[in-house]
Amino acid sequence: MSFSRTVKEELARVAPDKGCCQVAELAGLVRAAGTLEIAGRDAGPPSSAPPDERFHIWVETGQAPVARKLIQLGKAVLGSNPEVLVRKQRRLRRSRSFSVLLASARPRQDLVRLGVLNPGGGLRRDIPDELTVRGCCRRSYLRGLFLGSGSVTDPGRSHHLEMVLRDEALADQVVQLLFSLGVMVRLTSRRGEIVLYLKEADQIGQLLGLMGAHQALLAYENVLALKTVKNRVNRLVNAETANLEKTVDAGVRQAEDVKLIRRRLGLHTLSHSLRELAELRLKHPGASLKELGQLCEPPVGKSGVAHRLRRLEVLASELRGETATTSKRTR
Ligand SMILES: [Zn+2]
Repeated sequence: MSFSRTVKEELARVAPDKGCCQVAELAGLVRAAGTLEIAGRDAGPPSSAPPDERFHIWVETGQAPVARKLIQLGKAVLGSNPEVLVRKQRRLRRSRSFSVLLASARPRQDLVRLGVLNPGGGLRRDIPDELTVRGCCRRSYLRGLFLGSGSVTDPGRSHHLEMVLRDEALADQVVQLLFSLGVMVRLTSRRGEIVLYLKEADQIGQLLGLMGAHQALLAYENVLALKTVKNRVNRLVNAETANLEKTVDAGVRQAEDVKLIRRRLGLHTLSHSLRELAELRLKHPGASLKELGQLCEPPVGKSGVAHRLRRLEVLASELRGETATTSKRTR
């Protein structure tokens, strides 16, 4: 089963206890995947229908657990048993699709509650405040939207979560809603529909957690944890490489200094300890200070080696005519 289906199954199992959240989740589902139908004729502008006309809402889903959830929510919120139609789609790899028909004894009132119609009767484009004023309802509304229009990739392969919405005004409001919850979603359009999407694993994890998909959140967090460890290892390796390069660069520079001294003055003009180190540096330009110290007889500590190398460096600079002031002081 795809990761997306697993996540939706998990979300379908989240059962909001509070009435306010049940309405919000059903409203989200209807808004994302519902079709409004006026009984007895094709869907037309609902505002033109007489007030006693019967309305139907069809909600389509490709997943049985989502269909079951629609039935539960339909019963709880609308107080009537939804009907379910199962269709086999031959073209789409023989998958099944479910159409759930939500009916109501007080259709107009319920359509207003679900944010499908304005209290005045026209089709509603924004999300009613009552559905998102509480934190619990906001999360439930988003869960409904995601169940109806969302998908998410397996974090082991790539990081992508999206919701495909039909209405631009709705999309803008969902962006605001997510922003208020600390999730920065991006927008694009695809074949006339609005796509809200996230690409960052931490943001995807956050949204999954908000909607109540804790297993899915864990899957995303594991990837993040692994990434952190990998980054730390890379940083260490890089730092070590940088140090190594620095050591080698310095060694090569010091060997050049020694060659200059040998050419201009001859190494025999140096004191015994300086000459010993100069010769060792020529032979081992890549050795660290510690290693050079161990090669000396008797062995010399790291700081002793650094001190002698500095003296060789000053002498070479002097020969190049670079540091007149330093050379005066050393003499
Ligand atoms: Zn609530």
